[in-house]
Amino acid sequence: MNIRDLGRVSIRWKLTLLIVTISTVSLLLASVAFITSDRINTQQTASNNLATMAEIIAANSSAALLFGDARAAQETLGFLKAQQHIQAAAIYGTDNTVFASYRKPGIAIKFPESNIQTENTLFWGNHVELFTLINYEGEQIGIVYLRSNMKAIHDRLVWFLGIVAAVLLVSVLVTFMLSTRLQRIITDPLLRLSAIARQVRTEKNYSLRVIGENEDELGNLIIDFNAMLDEIQSRDDELSEHRAMLEERVMQRTSELEIANSKLAASKEQAEAVAKRMEYHAHHDALTGLPNRILLNDRITAELAHARRQQGKLALLFLDLDRFKIINDSLGHAVGDQLLRVIARRLGNCVREEDTVARLGGDEFMVLLPRISSSSDAGRIARKIIDCLVNPISCNGHELHITTSVGISIFPHDGVDAETLIKHADISMYRAKELGRNKAIYFTAEMNAGSRKQLALENSLRLAAGKNQLKLFYQPKIDIFRNTIVGVEALLRWEHPTMGMISPMEFIPVAEDSGLIIPIGEWVLNTAFTQLKQWHQAGYASLSMAVNISSAQLSRPGLEDVIEKALQAADLDARMTELEITENVAMENLEPAIAILEKLKHMGVSIAMDDFGTGYSSLSYLRQLPVDVVKIDQSFVREIPDSHEDVLIAQAIIAMTQSLNLSVVVEGIENVKQLNFFRQQGCNIVQGFLFSKPVEADEMLKMLAAQSAPGTVNLVK
Ligand code: C2E
Ligand code: MG
Ligand code: MG
Repeated sequence: MNIRDLGRVSIRWKLTLLIVTISTVSLLLASVAFITSDRINTQQTASNNLATMAEIIAANSSAALLFGDARAAQETLGFLKAQQHIQAAAIYGTDNTVFASYRKPGIAIKFPESNIQTENTLFWGNHVELFTLINYEGEQIGIVYLRSNMKAIHDRLVWFLGIVAAVLLVSVLVTFMLSTRLQRIITDPLLRLSAIARQVRTEKNYSLRVIGENEDELGNLIIDFNAMLDEIQSRDDELSEHRAMLEERVMQRTSELEIANSKLAASKEQAEAVAKRMEYHAHHDALTGLPNRILLNDRITAELAHARRQQGKLALLFLDLDRFKIINDSLGHAVGDQLLRVIARRLGNCVREEDTVARLGGDEFMVLLPRISSSSDAGRIARKIIDCLVNPISCNGHELHITTSVGISIFPHDGVDAETLIKHADISMYRAKELGRNKAIYFTAEMNAGSRKQLALENSLRLAAGKNQLKLFYQPKIDIFRNTIVGVEALLRWEHPTMGMISPMEFIPVAEDSGLIIPIGEWVLNTAFTQLKQWHQAGYASLSMAVNISSAQLSRPGLEDVIEKALQAADLDARMTELEITENVAMENLEPAIAILEKLKHMGVSIAMDDFGTGYSSLSYLRQLPVDVVKIDQSFVREIPDSHEDVLIAQAIIAMTQSLNLSVVVEGIENVKQLNFFRQQGCNIVQGFLFSKPVEADEMLKMLAAQSAPGTVNLVK
């Protein structure tokens, strides 16, 4: 084992080794010292004994020497026989001759012959020689020589060595036992310390402590070690506390994030649903779900491009239901709507998948037949359509027989662009009606003289104003929280002498196309404002008037002057008036529209976004337009609260108007469920058949009077 190996040995063994080594070495040194001193003493004693013996011999043999009596001298030496250790003895004369001698039997040695006349003691390896002078009266007469073996001394040495070895053995054993016992005083605390340190390290348990009450260095070490553990434990506790706090915070944040994420996902879902629905509304007819004019135009454009590339053909079928208006007027809108839905479904079923059936509005439909191989295909499909409407339709207990007139135009024969093709299909549809309805007629060049309907309508509309056939009806706007009529919307009506009451939906487009909308619009503004002034004078001074403005009016310069004049003529405060525009109207010419609306707003007129949600991209444009009020379109109101999607859309619109600080008017409230829903959403201004249909001015006055007479009417049911 070398020193490096020693490093690996436990302290207990090191200490044992140290103590045993020290005690053995000291014992050995002590033994050597003792044996050495004993040997010196023994040698001294042996030499003294020899000297005494020699002096006795010298004293007893001096006479024999003087008288030359060798025999007497020999006798003197005789007593040496009893001395076991004497090997030889001799008495010399002064001439160095042996006078008498003695040899122990069995021992053959030579007596020394030189250097013998002086007193001397010589120690050799295994014997000792002594020379003592024999004097007589102060004069040397001879010398005694004694030789003794060292056996006694050796025996003693051997005995001592035996003792030393035994003592050494015992002492090593005892030392070993004692040291193993005693060194525990040191190693036990150290082992405890090390065991605890290891346990702390592996288990990270800082509550462990080393037991030890000694006040020595080890005791202090244990105290310091425990103090260090105290410190670590308190830090560990602090750390754990911090970690727990941190974990709690992380968990809290995580759950907050999760909630926020799910909210985000929900609102994203909502926004996506809204966007999808908006997109759908922009391109589909709300009543039947069929593509609307915008989507149809897109598809016609795309198919025309394809047909041009392929040098193919396509057909447009223009459908108008025969006598639908009569059914609608007599049986009511609900039946009319239901009928339209069934017809839309039937139309969808009798065309090919690649064909598009669109509703243009009212009872007008259009079918796009792309990729037809010949014109006769279009006629065949038109016939099929007519046939599939032949079966009666049952609505609300009525068996309704409905027929349709179909006009057909073919690309490229009847036109090369969408507008011409639609116009020609429309014209041929009127031709079909003229020819007795329930027919499909191809467009012919002769028909191009002009659309009779259009012309007829336009002509009679031109005269209508002069003949007092145009009328304004008024529909109240109700504040459901205050339970009062806060304003009215002016809605135009045309009382045709033969065609009956024509809806603005039908004749306003004609008026717009022909430019008649400008004088008619002015007439509406003047009439509505004058009427409002009268109501103000009648005591309803807080009443406001909303007038619908068409795109042709907005895009023509000078609208603000017209309005200003109308306000002046009626002597009306602009703040009591509101103009309703639709998204598409504003979007067709965004920049100038914004400029005009800004001017009007500056005058004090408030601007309402009508039919909100049905246009192209409502949400983004609303931010750009200087609008005060948003009118939620009735198509979103109709299915509320049953349609989850419509509920989401309505909520999104309301939230958005709140964020933009705009007022909301809900159109088309027809039942209490719808009313309650919007009441819960915090919408206070509503409009709809639930309260009143559009009515004539005197009827309106009655309603105003009724609500101001306490207890007579309850507008909010
Ligand atoms: P609008 O401005 O959105 O007017 C609301 C339309 O919804 C009116 O149809 C009204 O009678 C109808 N309505 C009101 N409450 C309900 C209800 O609870 N349920 C249902 N199903 N319908 C309800 P109207 O009078 O046929 O007018 C149609 C559209 O014609 C108007 O829509 C407006 O865009 C346009 N219009 C009407 N008068 C004028 C006008 O003087 N000038 C211009 N440029 N357009 C006008
Ligand atoms: Mg309106
Ligand atoms: Mg509207």
